[in-house]
Amino acid sequence: MKELTHYINGQRVSGSSGRFGDVFNPATGEVQARVPLASKEELDAAVEIAAKVQPEWGAVNPQRRARVMMKFVDLLHRDMDKLAEVLSSEHGKTFPDAKGDVQRGLEVAEYCIGAPQMLKGEFTDSAGPGIDMYSMKQPLGVCGGITPFNFPAMIPMWMFAPSVVCGNAFILKPSERDPSVPILLAELMEEAGLPKGLLQVINGDKVSVDAMLANPTIQSIGFVGSTPIAEYIYGTGCANGKRVQCFGGAKNHMIVMPDADMDLAADALVGSGYGAAGERCMAISVAVPVGEETADRLIEKLAPRIEKLKVGPYTAGDDVDFGPVVTSAAKQNILNLVQSGIDQGAELVIDGRDFSLQGYENGFFVGPHLFDRVTPDMDVYKKEIFGPVLSTVRAGSYEEAIGLAMNHEYGNGTAIFTRDGDTARDFANRINIGMVGVNVPIPVPLAYHTFGGWKKSVFGDLNQHGPDAFKFYTRTKTVTSRWPSGIKEGGEFNFKAMD
Ligand code: NAD
Repeated sequence: MKELTHYINGQRVSGSSGRFGDVFNPATGEVQARVPLASKEELDAAVEIAAKVQPEWGAVNPQRRARVMMKFVDLLHRDMDKLAEVLSSEHGKTFPDAKGDVQRGLEVAEYCIGAPQMLKGEFTDSAGPGIDMYSMKQPLGVCGGITPFNFPAMIPMWMFAPSVVCGNAFILKPSERDPSVPILLAELMEEAGLPKGLLQVINGDKVSVDAMLANPTIQSIGFVGSTPIAEYIYGTGCANGKRVQCFGGAKNHMIVMPDADMDLAADALVGSGYGAAGERCMAISVAVPVGEETADRLIEKLAPRIEKLKVGPYTAGDDVDFGPVVTSAAKQNILNLVQSGIDQGAELVIDGRDFSLQGYENGFFVGPHLFDRVTPDMDVYKKEIFGPVLSTVRAGSYEEAIGLAMNHEYGNGTAIFTRDGDTARDFANRINIGMVGVNVPIPVPLAYHTFGGWKKSVFGDLNQHGPDAFKFYTRTKTVTSRWPSGIKEGGEFNFKAMD
């Protein structure tokens, strides 16, 4: 059995805790490797190494740090196919989706090349006679990040790229489901010129997360994953005096107005609802057609498109629309929720429960499902399913539709499909959700904007990437300086007035 490692101080290092997790090939259901699950001692030892090397890196000028990111971007282009191949084999997503995963992280690294501009600070000349005042953005020290299984390249890069370019050291605890790509990324960062020990990957589970939360040297923690864990990490991290940002689950609604281009809306729902097997925090999982007639037209357009979707292993090439889900537990959870939908009275228009693929009978495949006549009290509506299941909730009016999205506990993303500018504008202004699409189903902001939801989809104040990342990974120090010659020139400055 292949045994994976941690990445500590520039080397692949075997685990010493004696505990391991299984890494599956989701297409076949076979265990393809085992990943070491770190102990508290292993995590603490890596943090100690990071703390030793960080001060020197923090003193390197931002332009030189940015050059490392520049080279890293080149290396990501060079190794794109290799990274995507490893990613697909552990995650199960299609090869184009895996390349997209790397690409969206690469774009954050690209944005980080602008670090010298972002870290410039502020200066006030002659704030008083002989007095200058300036603010600088200094690194925090050692930062930590905990990432989910669904974007094993992009989300680690969301975190470590800005953190490291700001002069910090970074300890990454990736998902134990697909842990290989983060180590490849750390190796590429070193090939690009990052000193050893600045970016380390510690594989593990709750034990290593708790060790990270308890370690006093770790100054900040970034988390992306499910809401209950986000809440736990935010609460514990803050109580331990760390700077914390946590991004949680989602239930993204797409409102379809009667005037929408129905083909565009149906295509958008199929892509955003079923792409990556629904395992995206920006997936649309609830369609809200406004009016019975709109709903009937939408279902009529959706059903044949969904029936045509091809489900298969990433090795089948471009012909496959989506792959298996990540584990058999995830598959079972999805099927249980589908059953609850049936039991609670929703209409299952497309039933993917019996989906099976010859030669891959033990794979974690789930066929596409479409529910109609879902109501807000049902579990399929309330819970995040994270699978290829789209629920349709029929709304009587625009107000009812926007009310549904606003009253849901999650607030990650949403979209409206309409040809009416007034409605679109009203929706974008009033909705209490962080990322909004107008005739765009997955409104993921680009790297130079920030990414983040509202309500139970986020815990903390600053978003991922964009300018917020430079705020999260630095702290501001403001210096007020006075020089005697300036005081003479300036005359009678009254210092008491400053008290
Ligand atoms: P998860 O919460 O199970 O795991 C995320 C990370 O937390 C992993 O590294 C895992 O090892 C760790 N973890 C798991 N249980 C823990 C515990 N009890 N204590 C401490 N750490 C623990 O999430 P997942 O299944 O890997 O990812 C899917 C979830 O992530 C979905 O809810 C999805 O919506 C969410 N997600 C959100 C965003 C966003 O930006 N809001 C982006 C991607 C994914």
